[in-house]
Amino acid sequence: MAEKNGQCLCGTVKFSATPTANEVTVCHCGMCRQQMAGPFFAIECGSSFKVEDSPALGIYSASDYGERIFCKNCGTSIAWRTKDNSFSEVSVNAFTDVGELKLKQEIFVDNKPHYYSFAEETTQLTGAEVMEAFAAAQKD
Ligand SMILES: [Zn+2]
Ligand SMILES: [Zn+2]
Repeated sequence: MAEKNGQCLCGTVKFSATPTANEVTVCHCGMCRQQMAGPFFAIECGSSFKVEDSPALGIYSASDYGERIFCKNCGTSIAWRTKDNSFSEVSVNAFTDVGELKLKQEIFVDNKPHYYSFAEETTQLTGAEVMEAFAAAQKD
């Protein structure tokens, strides 16, 4: 896919990223839901995620290996990435125009509250399965 642009709600934090496919992953983990005020609808962008430096750029170190990119001014959540920027999941809703997408995968399904669910047929992975796949990918 081609490189796409996006920005936060107030327009101060701007980024570019190249989606690996026109597919959406939804993360139901507790951290995503708390930070995003809902499940995290993301597009995998590998190492292509680039965010412009800005005084409003927030980088929250959420774990030993991951960080969350957001705007300190308007509060928009923009992306989750590994600290070495080798892997990124960028918010679908932060892109300006990302084109047609398909809901492909749901992760951390064991952390999903019972009060919602999606009708689309998706691949579903538990948190443990995600961590296993992630560890295997890091070894490549
Ligand atoms: Zn902003
Ligand atoms: Zn999550």
